[in-house]
Amino acid sequence: MYRTKNCGELRIANVGETVTLAGWVQRVRKMGGMTFVDLRDRYGITQLVFNQEVNPNLCDEANKLGREYVVQITGKVGERYSKNDKMPTGDIEIEVSELCVLNEALTPPFTIEDNTDGGDDLRMKYRYLDLRRDPVRKNLELRHKFCFEVRRFLDSKGFLEVETPVLVGSTPEGARDFIVPSRMNQGCFYALPQSPQTLKQLLMVAGMDKYFQIVKCFRDEDLRADRQPEFTQIDCEMSFVEQNDVIETFEEMTKYLFKQVRGVDLGVAPFLRLPWSEAMRRFGSDKPDMRFGMEFVELMDVLKNTGEFGVFNSAAYIGGICAEGCASYTRKQIDELTNFVKSPQIGAKGLVYARVEADGTVKSSVDKFYSPEVLNQLKEAMQAKAGDLILIISGDDAMRARKQLCELRLLMGSRLGLRDKNKFALLWVVDFPMFEWSDEEQRLMAMHHPFTAPKPEDIPLLDTDPANVKANAYDMVCNGVEVGGGSIRIHDAILQAKIFNILGFTPEKAQEQFGFLMNAFKYGAPPHGGLAYGLDRWVSLFAGLDSIRDCIAFPKNNAGRDVMLDAPSHVDQKQLDELAIKVVEK
Ligand code: ASP
Repeated sequence: MYRTKNCGELRIANVGETVTLAGWVQRVRKMGGMTFVDLRDRYGITQLVFNQEVNPNLCDEANKLGREYVVQITGKVGERYSKNDKMPTGDIEIEVSELCVLNEALTPPFTIEDNTDGGDDLRMKYRYLDLRRDPVRKNLELRHKFCFEVRRFLDSKGFLEVETPVLVGSTPEGARDFIVPSRMNQGCFYALPQSPQTLKQLLMVAGMDKYFQIVKCFRDEDLRADRQPEFTQIDCEMSFVEQNDVIETFEEMTKYLFKQVRGVDLGVAPFLRLPWSEAMRRFGSDKPDMRFGMEFVELMDVLKNTGEFGVFNSAAYIGGICAEGCASYTRKQIDELTNFVKSPQIGAKGLVYARVEADGTVKSSVDKFYSPEVLNQLKEAMQAKAGDLILIISGDDAMRARKQLCELRLLMGSRLGLRDKNKFALLWVVDFPMFEWSDEEQRLMAMHHPFTAPKPEDIPLLDTDPANVKANAYDMVCNGVEVGGGSIRIHDAILQAKIFNILGFTPEKAQEQFGFLMNAFKYGAPPHGGLAYGLDRWVSLFAGLDSIRDCIAFPKNNAGRDVMLDAPSHVDQKQLDELAIKVVEK
C-alpha cells in the first residue's frame, strides 16, 4: 500500500496513529535542529517533521529533498506545538520514521503556489504543473460537480444521454468547420460538429423524446477571451414541447445547479423574459447585464433639432446613461471614457457628457449649442440628480450606436463596482428576429440557425416581410453572459424548405446539404425544441473567472495552439501521401 491516509484528512483525533502518506514536497524549512516538510496531494497539505536529535540520518535525507519530489513517508501523528488554523490539518504533524523518495523532480519553472510567479504562456506549456495548484484544480473539481449535477437533474426528468458522432459532414450556415480528411474516401472530408444540432433533431424523429449530451463542439473562429476552438455544450432536445415547456424545464435546472453547485438560492419567482427588441432598446445588448440599472434613455426628442449641434441633428439615434455620483469626474477621467468609446473595437465618433452640478444646473460639453431649458429637459429625461454624470452617444446607425453605448454602460458598471461576481442576475431573452441582414453575404442569414421555427403568428410574413419575422428562440443570460440558447424547431419539410429558400439556397443545394433532415421530416417528425448551454462559460461564471480557459484542463491559447502538445503541427509526408493531400506553401 502506498498510503494509508491522504494529505488532507488527518485531524487532532488521529494523534497517536501511525500512518503512511504519499505526495509531493511543497516546501522544506530548516529551523534549528528540526526540518519541516509540507507534503501535498490533491486533498491537502500535511506537515512532516524530522528531528536532528532523534534521527540525524533521516533528517539529513529530508534536508536533501527538493521541491516537487514525490515521496512516501511513515510516521506518527502528533499534536502541533504551534497550530495553524488556516489549514484543515493545521493541528497535527507527522513525526516521520521512514522516508522513501519515489521520484525526484526538476525544479519547476514556476512556483506551485496559489499566487504563482508563472506567466500565462509558461503555465500553459507546463499545464500539468499548473494543475497541481489549488485554484486551478478547484476549478476542475467545480466542473466535475457541475456535470455530475446536470446528469443527476436531467436523469430525474427522464432525459437520455445519447452520444453523437464526432466525425460528421460539413454544415454551411454556421461558423467555419474544422475538417478531417478521409483516407478511405480520398478527396473527401469529414467535419467536426459545431454542435449536434441536426443529429439531436433526428433523435427526436427517432422517438427518443428527451435527449441530452455533455458534448464537445468545434468551431474554427477567431478566438477571444471567452472562446476556445473546442468547447463543451450541455446539449438538450425535447419532443412535444412549446417554448414555455423548454424554458420551465431549464429554469428549474438552473435553479437546481445554483443551489447544489454554487450554494445560491435563486428563489421561486420565474426569471424575467425580456423581448429582444426591448433588450436592445434598454441595454443595447441581447445579453444585458442586469445586475445593475443604468438603462438607456433615448434622447432623440430632447436633443435632435433642438439646438445647433450638427452631430445630433443628423443622428439616427441619440441615447444616454446616467452614472450616479460621477459629476466629479475629472477632465482626465472623461478623456479616458472618450478614448474608450472611440477605440477601434468600439468605434464611436465621440462622447458627449453633462454634469449635474450641486445646485442642479447642467454643465455639458455641448453647452454652446443648447439653451439652458434644453439642458434642463435633458436632466429631466435622464432623471439625473445633483452629482450625476450623463453620458451620451449618437450615431447614424441606431443599432451600432446602441451597442457602443452598451460597452460604455458595462465599463461604468465595472467602475462603479456594480458588477459583483457574487451576485447573479438571470433572465431569458425571447422573440429574437428570425433573420439578420449580412452586408458581407448580401442576403438574410438565420440569427439563431436555419432549423429554428418562426413564431406561428409570423409565418404569413415569410412571404411578404421576412426581415420582420420573429423566431421562436430564446437565450438564457446570466450577468451579461449568454450561458445558453435554443429554439423551437421546424418539424415540417415544406416550411423548412421555405426557410432554406429565404436563406438563399436553391432547392437542389438545400437537398444536397440538408436532404437527410428534410427527408426525415417526411417520416413523422414530432414537434420539438431544445437548447444548449455553454458548459465552460457557466463553470467559469460559477468560479468567478474572467476567461473560460482556467476551467478547462488543457486549453488552447489565443492562436488556437496547444503549447504543451505543440499542436497543430506538421505531419509526415507519408501521412499526407496516404490521404492524397498536397500542402502548398503560402
Ligand atoms: N445548437 C445550438 C447552438 O449550438 C443550440 C440549440 O439551438 O439547441 O447554438
